[in-house]
Amino acid sequence: MRVVIAGVAGVGKSTILDIIKKNTNYDIINFGTLMFEMAREINLVKNRDELRKLAIDTQINLQKKASAAIGKMDNVVIDTHVTIKTPDGYWPGLPEWVIRELKVSSYFLIETDPQLIKSRRDADKSRSRDNDTVNDIREHQEVNRYYAAAYSIYTGATVSYVDNVEGKPDIAAQNIVRRLMSHD
Ligand code: AMP
Ligand code: MG
Repeated sequence: MRVVIAGVAGVGKSTILDIIKKNTNYDIINFGTLMFEMAREINLVKNRDELRKLAIDTQINLQKKASAAIGKMDNVVIDTHVTIKTPDGYWPGLPEWVIRELKVSSYFLIETDPQLIKSRRDADKSRSRDNDTVNDIREHQEVNRYYAAAYSIYTGATVSYVDNVEGKPDIAAQNIVRRLMSHD
């Protein structure tokens, strides 16, 4: 089975994924890492935060290559984004050509309080995050719900909204672990 775990930058997705990795036999595949490595090989970018600023056509090509590779893997949790904020607007992380390759059973959208996300982004010097306001972050989480609904209707995949409670990533992670185990 393949599932997607997504959430806006700073929501705490990596922490949750670490717990899932320790408690299941699923591989965690980071979509952005695959795209980044493909882009770096041909000298398009130096860091992963430059990816979303590339021309859309270029991003689409990288996205197609990454999804073709992931579509061949089984028992994977795909760590990716429901939408990417590009200079041209919201862009689907799983447009038709990606969905067709990935054949995902379930989407888990990790969400939390936008104010908390803002504070975490401000504290994270390792990434070049965009200067989103709290309202921008709230909008992004909302938009992700709309897009996930579209993915679900198109494919029949289920969607769960998972609250990453501050200081308790275990709760969110264990909810997902239970779901993954019940499909083994
Ligand atoms: P991350 O480190 O997970 O935030 O991902 C880094 C970057 O990879 C994102 O900002 C996007 O530019 C790109 N990326 C990740 N997933 C996708 C996707 N499904 N489609 C297009 N670009 C993606
Ligand atoms: Mg991350």
